[in-house]
Parts: sequence; structure tokens; C-alpha cells
Amino acid sequence: MTGEAKPTAAGVRADLAAKKISARELTGKYYARIERENPHWNAFLALSPDRAFAQADRIDRLVARGEELPPLAGLPLAVKDVLATRGVPTTCGSRILENYRPPYDATAVERLEQAGAIVLGKTNCDEFAMGSSNENSAYGPVRNPAAPDRVPGGSSGGSAAAVAAGLAVAALGTDTGGSVRQPGAFCGIPALMPTYGRVSRYGLIAFASSLDRVGPMATTVGDVAALLGAIAGQDPRDATSAPVPVPHYTKELSQPISGLRIGVPNEYFGEGMDAEVRKKVEAGIALLEGLGCRRVALEMPHTDYAIATYYLIATAEASSNLARYDGVRYGLRIPADTLAGMYRKTRGAGFGPEVKRRIMLGTYALSTGYYEAYYLKAQKARALIARDFQQAFEKADLLVTPTSPVPAFRLGERTADPLAMYLADIYTVTGSLAGVPGISVPCGRTGLGLPVGLQIFGPHFGESRVLQLAHAFERAGGASL
Ligand code: GLN
Repeated sequence: MTGEAKPTAAGVRADLAAKKISARELTGKYYARIERENPHWNAFLALSPDRAFAQADRIDRLVARGEELPPLAGLPLAVKDVLATRGVPTTCGSRILENYRPPYDATAVERLEQAGAIVLGKTNCDEFAMGSSNENSAYGPVRNPAAPDRVPGGSSGGSAAAVAAGLAVAALGTDTGGSVRQPGAFCGIPALMPTYGRVSRYGLIAFASSLDRVGPMATTVGDVAALLGAIAGQDPRDATSAPVPVPHYTKELSQPISGLRIGVPNEYFGEGMDAEVRKKVEAGIALLEGLGCRRVALEMPHTDYAIATYYLIATAEASSNLARYDGVRYGLRIPADTLAGMYRKTRGAGFGPEVKRRIMLGTYALSTGYYEAYYLKAQKARALIARDFQQAFEKADLLVTPTSPVPAFRLGERTADPLAMYLADIYTVTGSLAGVPGISVPCGRTGLGLPVGLQIFGPHFGESRVLQLAHAFERAGGASL
């Protein structure tokens, strides 16, 4: 959608209020575009027109009565397929849930609808959110709208591609080790992982429960803030959601950032980093200094252990979370003569290779005799990584790093080598383990036109500051560095 101003939530709401277009017409326009262009991107797996048009009509009735419109009125929204949507297929990108239609909505989806958003459909993702390229989906890979021969990142690749290709104005993703931020970086859109506990996980189908978070993706930081405002806050249906008051992110967005201390950890500029990514991120930091921020060099000595720690904890939790797919209660069932045979056949046919690899790794790490050597040690390393963040935030208000060491890679380029794929998460999993919030915001493009992401971490529940810096960066031209 080059040349046009980016569609935003505020713009949609203003157009509806001014009766330039009705919510029904707008929704129809997006569905027409999806029908035309989605076969090329494979971003959407299922559409929910009945639900979308019913919501559009509710909004149009408010307009007709001259009532005040809710903050996200008419917003065309895409939802990652690991979030439960009542009556609408929710597959987690897996064959094992191919025909699953949940009887309830995830809290984040419910809250966005209450705020006026229109759920267009469900987006493609790596199976059970396990992946960094969207190539682990049972329903085929997604193409990156910025470079169609390349991956959109993962696991929320469909959500990122839908927004980047203009098939939705905003989207929900989920982030366990980078899955909102990294596809945001690869597709060139802002994308936020909130603090663990900031947004309810109710209805987020579990991958690794101590790490999973729901996060907004949009075309502008302002929209990311508006979506966060709608989904944040305690939920009695998720005991890990925190009773911490929710600030008015949108109102606080333009607060001055001059004088902020931005920490730049040495460990995030190590080996294996693409030279162009380094150059763009350095230019991004210089831009922030030009806006009056003070650069503080930092050390976060346990960063090196993050990938190993993450892949132990995440796989251990996944192995127990995925035990529920047994062919008995819901999802795929392959009959067999014995119960154990049915489990085996169902799980053998229903899960893809990456999910099986993770279940085996996780089961191994948790087994008697290995628990202390692997899982317990990983928990200790996690505490040290969290302490690195705590100490960093004594010296700096926010941390600035690259989101990913490389820009979007070619489809198929890393599929044969799981370790190379896991290393793509090197700068994102740290914040996941520490529970802190982080955003990826567009930071120029490489010579080939591939988007680069600048990652900003804040202390627990410090989303407002994170958004302020990202917003100032965006306004100062960060995306075209
Ligand atoms: N790429 C990481 C993984 O494969 C993170 C995935 C995620 O955040 N859901 O586990």
C-alpha cells in the first residue's frame, strides 16, 4: 500500500464517525482484498465474515444514532490462530486441531471486540507457535510482503504479513521467545510483547505457560498503544494476570523522552550479526541520541546462556502442555485397537516434526536423572538472566538492541538446521525469560529493501515508557533510516 497514508485505528474511527464509509462497507472492502491477495501471502487460515459483519452492523447502528464510538470502532483485525475464537476454527497451525471450533473467546479477543474491533479471521503461524519462520505451519508457509521469496518471521508470521500487506489494520500475535517482535521486525511493522501478566492468557492455547504472552501488531506505535490499552489488565480467568493498574498508553504516548538513559548491552552486538543490521541499529541509536537520549554502555553477562535456557524451559513446558492432545476430548482422532494405540496414531499423524522434536527434548529434560542437570539448571540460569535485566535497569531507563541478528531469510534457507533457526531468537528470548516488555520498531531497511527492527526493552510494567521511545523514534523517521 505504498503511496497511501497508513490506515490506523484512529483514522478508521474518524472516517466512520464522519460517515465517509460504513463499517459494513469497510469490512467488505477488506474481505475483497483478502480474497484477492491472500492466496499469494497465505496469511489467513480462516475467515469469520458472519461475526465480522454482525459487529460492523453494531458499529453502524451507533453511528446512525450519533453515539460516541468506542476507541477501536470498526478496526479490521486479524487474530493469530493460537487464540481461541468462539465458533471460528482455531487450529494452532496444526493438523491435530484441524476441525476445532472453541466454545469461547480468548480474553484479548473479547476485549478488542468490546472496544469495537472487527475480527476478520485467523492467521497462519508456526504449529503451536513453535518456530521463527512460519515454515512449521501444517497449512503452508507465509510469504513476507516486503520480500515475497522470504519468510515473514515466526511464529506470528501470518499476523505480521496480514498487517504489512494491508489485509488488516492491526493484529494480535503471541510471543513466547520472540514471536511477536521478530515477525514485526522482518515485515517492517511495530510489534509489542507486554510484561508477563499484563495481558490475560485466557484462551491463548498454551505452548510454554511461564513465557507465553499476547501482544499487538499494527502499522503505527500509536495503534500498538491503543490495542494494548484495550487488552491489558487483570482477568479473573487467568491467575497469572497481574492486578496492576493500566495507564492510559495513548494519552502518555507523546511524553518527552529527552534525558532518558538508553542502555546498549555489548552482548547484543556479537558474532553472527549481519553487518547491515548492525549499521542500521547503530544509526537508530544515534537518532535517539539526537533526540536527547543518553547512551549508556552495559554488560549483561548471562546473555550467552539465553538460547540454551529458553529451549530447555520452553520444550519442558510444551511437553506437558501438549499431553492433552490425545484424540479423546477434541481434535483429530485416529482409531486403533487399544487406547495406547489410538494415542500413538493420533499424535503421530497430528503433530508435525518440530512439535515432535520439542516434545521429545522437553520430556528428556524433565525425566528422572536428567531433571537436575537440565531443567533445574535452566531455571537457575533464568534467574541470572532476569538479574542481568534488573541490574541493567538500575543504570538505564530502557534498553536498546537489535530485534534479530539478521533480516528476513529466504524460504527454505534454514529449515534443515534447527540450531540455525533457534539462533535467530538470540536477542528476543532474553526478555522473554526475564518477563519484561519489549517492542520491535522499524529501523530502516537493508540494501535489498529488507526491514530491520530496533528492539526496546523496559522494566516490568514499563510499557508506557517503551511506547514513548518507540513513538518518538517512529516520528523522527526511524523507519526510513
Ligand atoms: N522462535 C521461538 C521458538 O521457536 C519463539 C516462538 C514463540 O515466541 N512462540 O520457540
